[in-house]
Amino acid sequence: MISTPIHSSALARVTGVLLAVLLLAPAVQAEEEPRDRPIEKVLEPIQLTDRVWYFYGSLENRTPENLGFTNNTGFVVTDDGVVLIDSGPGYKVAGRMAKAIAEVTDQPITHVISVGSQDHRWLGNGYFHEQGAELVALARTAATQAERGEGQIMSLANAVGEDAMEGTAPVPAPNPIDADEHTLTVGGVDFKLIYAGDAHFPGDIMVHLPGEDVVFTGDIVYTERMLGIHPWSNPVEKLEAFRHLESIDPEIVVPGHGRATDLAEARQDTGDYLELLVREVKAGIEDWESLDEVVERLADLEAFQHLRHYDDWHRPNVNRTYLFIEENM
Ligand SMILES: [Zn+2]
Repeated sequence: MISTPIHSSALARVTGVLLAVLLLAPAVQAEEEPRDRPIEKVLEPIQLTDRVWYFYGSLENRTPENLGFTNNTGFVVTDDGVVLIDSGPGYKVAGRMAKAIAEVTDQPITHVISVGSQDHRWLGNGYFHEQGAELVALARTAATQAERGEGQIMSLANAVGEDAMEGTAPVPAPNPIDADEHTLTVGGVDFKLIYAGDAHFPGDIMVHLPGEDVVFTGDIVYTERMLGIHPWSNPVEKLEAFRHLESIDPEIVVPGHGRATDLAEARQDTGDYLELLVREVKAGIEDWESLDEVVERLADLEAFQHLRHYDDWHRPNVNRTYLFIEENM
């Protein structure tokens, strides 16, 4: 469990207490929260350490109420400016995010790190780039962004409305880093960018802040809700990335979706699920079980049925894991 950090200001103390309550709250209480937190709620930053904050995205699908902010993003207040971890679902929301950050600190936003290439991770890049922030991404991430950007903007506009997406253009990092690992240091804070394979989208990464004992996992970890495996996801590399996260053993995990938590809950909601999926699907294929047989055999996994969207996502996850492993074994 995360210990509540000692904060200097009253605001920070209140936020710390709220966070502790949030993290200690039993699953039942989470169930009672309104299912779709609107954008106004999402844009209230939550403090995790003296320097690290995050925006806790809606757990629901993309709607005109949440404007596609259904993922977590974060920001880190260094001595030389604010480093943003993912820029959110579009230009206008990015502007609102900047305002919310300005309530917390006077420091300008100097860098934006992309943890992934799914729409809501980076479509706000254009706003921050215009404001003079440096866009930071590994080459593989930026390549996927460039490839998918236009299509993502169109699909997202269908879900949240054209008006909400006004001003949004695909702006991947102009000078991406051609490496699997890279450390960016800003204002005395180290940000280790770690390539996580083609886990959820090709070119996903995690960002480790060793000095804060925090990892932003992007879509490697989901809490509270069922993770999604897409036709282009690599569930085996996703599990390997989770193992890597375990080897880092951070005190605080900020997942791609779902509240920030500790490694134990991340393991419960993501690591254990991925492990079971890969193990059982492999065993099924080795025993000549058909895709349908494996999907049926694994249909009811009690340990994970409490996760939101289980009914929508679990069967497709088994299905896609089967097809992936069959093709790559
Ligand atoms: Zn996601």
